[in-house]
Amino acid sequence: MGAGLSVTLGLVGLPLAAVAHSRSVDVGLSTQDWGDWLADAGKAAGIETLFAAAGGALGLGLVRRFRRNWWAPASVCVVGLGIASLWLFPVVIDPIFNRFEKLPPGRLRSEVLSLAQRAGANVGQVYRVDASRRTTGTNAYVNGLGHTKRVVLYDNLIDNFPDDQVQSVVAHELGHQKHNDIYRGLAWLALVAPAGLFLAQALAERIGRRAGLDDRSRKPGPAALPAIALSLALVSFGGGIASNLMSRRVEASADAFSLQLTHDPAAQIELQRRLAVSNVADPDPPRLLQLLFGSHPTTLERIGMGESWARKR
Ligand SMILES: [Zn+2]
Repeated sequence: MGAGLSVTLGLVGLPLAAVAHSRSVDVGLSTQDWGDWLADAGKAAGIETLFAAAGGALGLGLVRRFRRNWWAPASVCVVGLGIASLWLFPVVIDPIFNRFEKLPPGRLRSEVLSLAQRAGANVGQVYRVDASRRTTGTNAYVNGLGHTKRVVLYDNLIDNFPDDQVQSVVAHELGHQKHNDIYRGLAWLALVAPAGLFLAQALAERIGRRAGLDDRSRKPGPAALPAIALSLALVSFGGGIASNLMSRRVEASADAFSLQLTHDPAAQIELQRRLAVSNVADPDPPRLLQLLFGSHPTTLERIGMGESWARKR
């Protein structure tokens, strides 16, 4: 049932995804032809279907077993899955889509290590990913837990951006490591998951009347899954808005850390400008969109931060 839902929703969304791909080819952001794109979409759909099937079975099992308060064991599962996926994604799922290489010994690697030393941050491994096989966009991120902890830099960044701007990016990612943002993200999940799932249960019991979800003396069958999935989706949407609010603050603080470490606001400002151009991003998106979906401060805000840091010095 979970698999069926996932495939159906995937098929419904496919035309929209195709339009998005065709537009990103038009503006020069995507480097994939239709064959590559379809292969990626197929792989992603396969993985999603697998997860949906497992998630659906697990979810329904919990609902049937803990008829009154399934939200409680479900929150424990959500946090457990969050930890497992942070730990395993970089080594199990990510390599299905891209090639990751450890930075070879050389100037960039030494610069990264010396920045990390100055920052007093445990950087984990630093990888270069072949993002250019899919996009001309530029990015970098931290992920992983324990021994899978890593900083990942897009090849587009390493190959096309000047040294001082690459350092500004690396310093920002080191800020995330130094502030333990991944652990703080997990703590946030542990905090909001129980509340969110409590709400989702209440919602599912209203939406899923016809499948018998409101009657706590009955064990519902697979017909209850769409109502549960819809409730989870609605609650996640709300949770996502709250998480973005937190994320914007976390990102601003990583920017501040980067400025403190590099003392180079000019590089930070030029970097933000070039990132926006390379990612075809709106430097100053509509207020409401930024409030709901913005995971980072806007480009203008980030440039403003560099300007005000420079002025204070
Ligand atoms: Zn960041």
